[in-house]
Amino acid sequence: MRAAAALQAPTHRPSLPRQFTENLLALLLPSACAVCSGELRESLSGGICGRCWRALEPWTGAICPRCGLPLATRVLAADSMCSDCRLERPHFDFARSFGIYSGRLRRAVLELKFHRRERLGVRLGRLLAEPWLALKSASGLPESWLILPVPLHRSRERERGYNQAEVLARGFVKAMRQRGGSALFRLDRRSLVRERSTAPQSGLSVQARRENVRSVFAVTRPTRLRDRDVILVDDVMTTGATASACAAALKRAGVRRVIVLALARATPQFPDVASRTLKEEGTRPVAGT
Ligand SMILES: [Zn+2]
Ligand SMILES: [Zn+2]
Repeated sequence: MRAAAALQAPTHRPSLPRQFTENLLALLLPSACAVCSGELRESLSGGICGRCWRALEPWTGAICPRCGLPLATRVLAADSMCSDCRLERPHFDFARSFGIYSGRLRRAVLELKFHRRERLGVRLGRLLAEPWLALKSASGLPESWLILPVPLHRSRERERGYNQAEVLARGFVKAMRQRGGSALFRLDRRSLVRERSTAPQSGLSVQARRENVRSVFAVTRPTRLRDRDVILVDDVMTTGATASACAAALKRAGVRRVIVLALARATPQFPDVASRTLKEEGTRPVAGT
């Protein structure tokens, strides 16, 4: 260690890997907000301060009625599906997201994915109740649903410690059960699996994304799924290629309806979501960037 330190020029000493420094800070200051690093006063907060939590805003503007893509236009034509949906109808029936993948919501997702913030994920999952209730009241959907997280390949899940979509799904189910009513939600984490590990979707074109996930998902227990209605939960939806591939496998197994609920929608129509690589996203976002 001494020899290694001696070999380093003094100017290199402060440049320890940022992640290491921040992990150390997190140990020393366990009460910092996961998103803004500000002081965290509330207990049972899931690691996010009240200011950041209140700033997680739902998207309330116009959307594609099928895939839920936030649209920049305010005026909706009668048939206002986005160009992707018009070009190739996705296999799911509808998809909806809570908000746009930017700002604090994006940082919160990255914390959930890369920094083992499971409690934060359960809290974030509760936000999925909003787009769900809006869709349900508008579409007259049934009451009984199986909730399936978009699966990770088992090697990826082992590496990450959990499937972030499953953590969100748990939060969603909790929120819906607390609301009571007659709706029935059952979490099913085993009927849909990812059979192959795939290259990250980020940076790929729409067509390449579809190819990348084709035949990747499989149903393990078709008898449980036949004639059921399924809510598929994911953290971030971009083009919807992954969700559509999952829905295709589910429909082949006899699932009646597939509704996709994603916490955040990444779309190049809005700033702050340009094609960042997964490698960049693996580093902890710094407050102020
Ligand atoms: Zn905060
Ligand atoms: Zn669409």
